[in-house]
Amino acid sequence: MFYHAKELQFNARVSKPDPKFASLLLEQFGGMNGELKAAMQYFTQAFAARQPFPEKYDMLMDIATEEFSHLEIVGATIQMLMNGVNGEMKDISEQSELMQLVGGGKASKENLIHESMLNPMFLGVTGGSPAVTNSQGVPWSGYYVDANGDMTVDLRSDIAAESRAKITYEYLMQFTDDPDVKETLKFLMTREVAHHQMFEAALSTLEPNFPPGVVQGDPRYTNLYFNMSKGDDARGPWNEGESPLLGEQWQYIDDPQQVVNSTDGLRDQQPQGAAMSMDEAEKKSKEVSKMRSEQIKSAVPKGSNQWSKYTK
Ligand code: MN
Ligand code: MN
Repeated sequence: MFYHAKELQFNARVSKPDPKFASLLLEQFGGMNGELKAAMQYFTQAFAARQPFPEKYDMLMDIATEEFSHLEIVGATIQMLMNGVNGEMKDISEQSELMQLVGGGKASKENLIHESMLNPMFLGVTGGSPAVTNSQGVPWSGYYVDANGDMTVDLRSDIAAESRAKITYEYLMQFTDDPDVKETLKFLMTREVAHHQMFEAALSTLEPNFPPGVVQGDPRYTNLYFNMSKGDDARGPWNEGESPLLGEQWQYIDDPQQVVNSTDGLRDQQPQGAAMSMDEAEKKSKEVSKMRSEQIKSAVPKGSNQWSKYTK
């Protein structure tokens, strides 16, 4: 169950209204890399983790709930940046507090409305409060949520999500001069840095965690690098020496067309510098599949099941 505390996780403040920035900040409310996406992603992933990986469930729910707290901070900041707009729209006297703050007069009101119009949702639909859209007014979508029912896949999606949330805050910070708003954004950005490390650490506790899922790659193809774009060819740890996760020797194919032709379209390709033979890979797929399947089945009771334990 959820329990709501009315105090924000971070003491969000604004120095003055700024409808233009409020409009941009909506990106982190209902945008594809925003707080609602993060919250819903970790919340959704947590269901599959609940019984087989209770410690990952605990972490996912802690972070999902923190993301809802960030959503609340972003919404509160938008509301404060739009402060007065809702009242203004109900006030035809041109004498409101907000009008005095922005200089007063009809020109100011028009200017304010013009700035708010960057996102017409603010005027036409919500009257100055947050909308569940991105900064362009595109509605939030469940399609932003990545949950694949495999802990290693989900954690990698989460690391990517945290990177995108972090850079979005970094970009947004350049568009406000308000020191109070900057402090809030710095806090929100930094928490994504913290979450990024939590997901990395959690991934490292799952063994094996690569390749994702249970089926091993075909050793004929896991370490081939095709030089598909000729000229100024670069070499580095992505195509020479040892591959980082499987520890195989990269095979650099300088003439892909020749190799494809001479191997009957790679069907006759033999494993070279691979970690395993094809038989070993087959065996490992079965082993990992048995292990993962047992891990999950043993954690989930057959027949009658109950989600929670209650203590009196
Ligand atoms: Mn966040
Ligand atoms: Mn985060």
